[in-house]
Amino acid sequence: MKVALTIAGSDSGGGAGIQADLRTFAAHRLHGTSAITAVTAQNSVAVTAWVALEPAMVVAQLEAVATDMPVAATKTGMLANAAIVGAVADAAARLPLGPLVVDPVMVAKSGDRLLDAAAERAYVERLFPLAAIVTPNLHEAEALLGRPVRGLAAMREAARDLHRLGARAVLVKGGESVPGAEDVFFDGSRLEEIPGPRIDTANVHGTGCTLSAALCARLALGDALLDAVRGAKAYLVEALRRSYTVGKGRGPVDHLH
Ligand code: PLP
Repeated sequence: MKVALTIAGSDSGGGAGIQADLRTFAAHRLHGTSAITAVTAQNSVAVTAWVALEPAMVVAQLEAVATDMPVAATKTGMLANAAIVGAVADAAARLPLGPLVVDPVMVAKSGDRLLDAAAERAYVERLFPLAAIVTPNLHEAEALLGRPVRGLAAMREAARDLHRLGARAVLVKGGESVPGAEDVFFDGSRLEEIPGPRIDTANVHGTGCTLSAALCARLALGDALLDAVRGAKAYLVEALRRSYTVGKGRGPVDHLH
């Protein structure tokens, strides 16, 4: 069985983070491995506390997996702070982790911050050059570029500018924020709009994690990048169609399809 790796935080409520990533890998019939960066105390309503692990412990997990198993592709999710971003970049440069999907997680769906503000520069400087693709949502694109990104034309500009900042390919995710739920892909030559559909559900906890994990899974299975992006979006759309309510807030997407 092929191996995929997620470097991300734990969501105690089981909607996002490591828990969503491992279920996505399992749904793709991959062996899922993980390096946990942070533990969040979280439910469907809010993140009530979180603590980051020591960067050395994150690296130890990466080394344990990568020196034993043939990792076919890797994704990063919540990296919590600049020290972990730097440690993951150093490790990714020397360990065989396969193509790297960088989901620059900054804020949970509940609005709670999951990344120290000082770490945004570290993403661009350290991880962008190593990424096969970076997958910011509109909020993350705005934070990385330091300007508003609203609407499709601005998303196209943002994809070009994030590519110019050093990412080999970029997927700017419009999601719920644009009428057609379009995402914009740019790899330096092809600029593609990937349309929705919009799914009418409040249960959107873990959508970003699920998309980047599905993209990582597709790359692990050997898809070319744009095929992997389209396939991951199709997987997320189906997961959203089957999303369900659990708890008092935003429920998770479903992975059993
Ligand atoms: N990673 C962790 C550990 C989280 O708890 C969350 C959100 O709660 C995310 C990532 C991002 O979540 P989403 O996929 O909903 O954007």
